[in-house]
Amino acid sequence: MAEDLEELYQAIILDHNRRPQNFGPLKDADVSARGYNASCGDDLTLQIKMDGPIIEDVRFSGEGCAISRASASLLTGIVKGKSQQEVEVLAQKVISSLSGGPDSLVSMGDLCALEGVKKFPMRIKCATLAWHSLLEALTKINSRDVE
Ligand code: ZN
Repeated sequence: MAEDLEELYQAIILDHNRRPQNFGPLKDADVSARGYNASCGDDLTLQIKMDGPIIEDVRFSGEGCAISRASASLLTGIVKGKSQQEVEVLAQKVISSLSGGPDSLVSMGDLCALEGVKKFPMRIKCATLAWHSLLEALTKINSRDVE
């Protein structure tokens, strides 16, 4: 079991957990989405500031296990500066890949760290939590634009 855990908590995950990027509340956020994973107790909130169609800034806060925090940290680093449309496609790809879909995370830079989580079905919800919150936040932006 110890070996399995070592494999799971790879260097990138540990590093992001210890020194998460973009951690803490975001001032002047346009939208936020809270994600709760009952099976692990992860409770993270994602906050986004938009500049037109571009994600100008994104931060996360809350409590979670190493995997949920590392995944959120990786997310914030990757989506900042990208367009909403681009990020929606990416989030769906990441979620589908973690849920056993055909897409691989290996070619997605640091996101490859999450590839190892696939071997641990109980922890997949930890890894996808922030990505679901991201999609929820972007949906809120879409519905607001319609108003
Ligand atoms: Zn967790």
